Amino acid sequence: MTDIKMGISSCLLGNEVRHDGGHKRNTYVMSALSEYFSFRPFCPEVAIGLGVPRPTIRLSKIENQIRLVGTKNPDMDLTDDMNRWSENAMNGMDDLSGFILKSNSPSCGMERVRVYDSNGMPSRDGTGLFATVLMQKNPALPVEEEGRLNDPVLRENFIERVFVYYRWQKMVEDGFTVSDLMAFHQQHKFILLAHNEQEYRKLGPLIAAVNRDNLEHTADEYLVRMMACMKSRASRKRHTNVLMHVMGYLKKKINSDDKKELIEILDNYRLGKVPLIVPITLMKHHLRVYPDEYISSQYYMAPYPEELMLRNMV
Ligand code: SF4
Repeated sequence: MTDIKMGISSCLLGNEVRHDGGHKRNTYVMSALSEYFSFRPFCPEVAIGLGVPRPTIRLSKIENQIRLVGTKNPDMDLTDDMNRWSENAMNGMDDLSGFILKSNSPSCGMERVRVYDSNGMPSRDGTGLFATVLMQKNPALPVEEEGRLNDPVLRENFIERVFVYYRWQKMVEDGFTVSDLMAFHQQHKFILLAHNEQEYRKLGPLIAAVNRDNLEHTADEYLVRMMACMKSRASRKRHTNVLMHVMGYLKKKINSDDKKELIEILDNYRLGKVPLIVPITLMKHHLRVYPDEYISSQYYMAPYPEELMLRNMV
């Protein structure tokens, strides 16, 4: 296990904290991810003193405000308790590198949580109260819902963001300088390009203007913007562009047969016939024979442990 710490809705770890005394153990989290992350569980509803089992609660729109109330007893209003606890819970979360939330929960749900109107009709446009505070207070923190982790692209995106965020935390912990920040940006160039080239380009002037006086302020702004940039889906087209860039460094070194093979494989990847791991593996093979300092400095080539096998599915 690494020392990467991840917050998680407690029921996803198999803890029996749900209103009905059950849990929502998530197999992927418990099997694949638990080897790489230390999970820190949070159950906001238990934490505010609701027992197990407990009456169900939900989000309701009351006088234009979203309130957390009892499903059968709307007079039981837990909004202030939940907001207060959530604000307090943010102290001591600085060492987390990501957070996995349980979907559909009026406390933990990240998006599309049911909000009931005065007629008892739901609209799926709410966010759990704890999740709201978590995301507002930690705008750069990678946050994802367990259900969305079933989508290979979203899963890869989330884990990649967690590792980037972790590297950032390490850099800050070690006491970073202007050149450390510049190097960080440089080493993540290909990753950012694969997500959103336009946003990557906009980060250039911010980094170019960094100096000792504005370092802290620039770093704060940079982190939020780079993490937002990484939320854009890294499409096959964008990955292909990045890989063509890598190929530019190789094409004068490899022979024409190898070049032909690489182009064919890149084309197959672009057309969706093979996953990303295929061209990356071939490129790494050539880079072992013809090492290139600049390319090997790019986290894009190895953004997280290969054993997670995330690039085998995208
Ligand atoms: S969804 Fe959140 S509040 Fe509900 S049981 Fe799970 S951890 Fe607790």
